Amino acid sequence: MAKKDLDWGNIGFQYRVTDKRYVSEWKGGEWDEGRLTDDPNVVLNESAGILQYCQQVFEGLKAYTWEDGSIVCFRPDMNAERIFNSAKRMEMPPFPKERFVRAVEEVVRANADWVPPFGSGATLYLRPYEFATGVVIGVKPADEYQFRIFATPVGPYYKGGATPISIIVSDFDRAAPHGTGAVKAGLNYAMSLHSSVLAHTAGYAENLYLDAASRSYVEETGGSNAIFVDGEGTLVIPKSDSILPSITRRSIVYVAEHYLHLKVDERPVLFDEVKGFKECGLCGTAAVLSPVGRIVNHDEVINFPSGMEKAGKVMGELYNTLTGIQSGKIEAPEGWIHVIR
Ligand SMILES: *Cc1c(COP(=O)(O)O)cnc(C)c1O
Repeated sequence: MAKKDLDWGNIGFQYRVTDKRYVSEWKGGEWDEGRLTDDPNVVLNESAGILQYCQQVFEGLKAYTWEDGSIVCFRPDMNAERIFNSAKRMEMPPFPKERFVRAVEEVVRANADWVPPFGSGATLYLRPYEFATGVVIGVKPADEYQFRIFATPVGPYYKGGATPISIIVSDFDRAAPHGTGAVKAGLNYAMSLHSSVLAHTAGYAENLYLDAASRSYVEETGGSNAIFVDGEGTLVIPKSDSILPSITRRSIVYVAEHYLHLKVDERPVLFDEVKGFKECGLCGTAAVLSPVGRIVNHDEVINFPSGMEKAGKVMGELYNTLTGIQSGKIEAPEGWIHVIR
């Protein structure tokens, strides 16, 4: 087999059907042994739990080709752990963590020709997800589920690469206190689509959400955690029970402390403080770390001193170090790199 004939440098961030995907079914109170399949379609009963009451959780991670030709994944055990917890919160049977990592390996190996080559800037994006297939009409958890993983090659999330973006504070909320904000569930995205369309229409890359209770603390965007650098050069990480625990953000905290020797302060962050900060960035698997140059909140415009031309010093160093670790140029902390082939 040979690599697929794609213009790897320009594939964009979009879905492409690849050769194989993994599926395991929960029936009669247990997961079956699981298998790879060629069929990208899912057939559901009209009253399936996912269609009626939105029982679904998901993950996102990437496989990379290193310079020596090996294919690796970044911290898949963290995704296994998170979807396990997400499923429990949604009253779904959690997929065993060791099986999650093995299923990731199977899907990557079966689609090895789709893993973008070293140096292309592209990666193989993996989408593990679980949803209710069982029939419900009264409101209750379904009794049948599918866990699946598909793979699709993707280029950088933001076309501009690491150039700063402008974001806007949303008048809508993403997550309620004691709600599902810390869970990676599709329902959190469904409810953010309206504000996301409004933001894009107005020319902003993302929404920044404030806490729903007081609308005075910074939460995160629709799909990435926000991080800041204050006047002392400390990395400031907003803390809240309704922020999704980003693996990229937790990795960045480690990189900041152990590689860049920065001070890190994880605490509730008032939106009022943001105008005094020096740098801002958004982090998540898809974009890794996007520098933010400007935040708009109605009449208030915050222009970070790092500007709109290039990433600020700290965001640039964090980005270079983390992507260096992911691409094998910088030695990774123990257990971060999962070699698949
Ligand atoms: C997935 C996600 C993130 C990013 O998490 P990573 O593990 O870094 O990919 C951030 N915020 C939300 C709401 C998410 O769903």
